[in-house]
Amino acid sequence: MTSNPYFFRDQNIINHSNKLLIETVGTDDLPINVFDIPEYLDINFEFTSEKFKSAKELGLTEIINDKFYIYLNANVFGNSIEEAKKDTTQWRRCRFTLAHELGHCFLPNHIDVNIQKNFQEDSVNSLKNSYLKQKEVEADGFASELLIPSKTVNKSFLDDSKNLFKNAKILSETYDVSLQVAIMQLISLSTANICVCVFSSPYNGKIISYKPADSFRYYGNGARIEVKTEVPQNSIAKKLLNGDLRQEGIPNTLDIYYWFPEFRGSDEAKLTECSVHFNHYILTYLEITDTSIYGY
Ligand SMILES: [Zn+2]
Repeated sequence: MTSNPYFFRDQNIINHSNKLLIETVGTDDLPINVFDIPEYLDINFEFTSEKFKSAKELGLTEIINDKFYIYLNANVFGNSIEEAKKDTTQWRRCRFTLAHELGHCFLPNHIDVNIQKNFQEDSVNSLKNSYLKQKEVEADGFASELLIPSKTVNKSFLDDSKNLFKNAKILSETYDVSLQVAIMQLISLSTANICVCVFSSPYNGKIISYKPADSFRYYGNGARIEVKTEVPQNSIAKKLLNGDLRQEGIPNTLDIYYWFPEFRGSDEAKLTECSVHFNHYILTYLEITDTSIYGY
């Protein structure tokens, strides 16, 4: 089905998420009513501030006597669904947080009291443990798929990187998710594109984090992003940082070595960059087009 040999998206997570939707609220009504799901599963959820140490912690899952309890941080979202709804940005974050916690309840290898307990304790250590980090990434993937079920996404939106931001905006309204989640989901559903999303700080010009499509992770060839390094000179993101760019969100073709100085792939490889300034970060979409990898 997929045209890209480097595409290994984890079907397992998609299947689990789809199964949960089929057994609960279905996918006919959009946006997915994620707040109805806990009741179907006899999972308790509540808004509380008692379980959280800081506003960085958004949600938490506990298992007590085989029963799941999901807590959402009242200091962040307010004390009820109604309060959370007052601010669209927070509401979308709240929906994603619940979907993420449902991932911990529903993904088979997450159903382990000790793991759940570790999540809690490790959040203090900013998830230094890579096994737990992996679980967090899985729960995020589960949440994205739960809120934006891939089979419901307009096919014309996929692999249409020229209109990535425009399409993501439509998805974010339709599915009631943040623009970032919509962009991530479009990227992870991308079959033909070797791409990665990079978040940089407008305050110090450094890379904060990045999310690669699986195709990017498997591509190799020296194409890699390093956090805490400066946004490269000559990149579009740098121009945005310097205030030298008139129009944002327009894809530009540029020298692949600007972003990947250690690149050792084919001469045919091209790089497209599209960068947009959000409130607290600059989001950069990078896509490598390498026709040589399809040649065998
Ligand atoms: Zn988590």
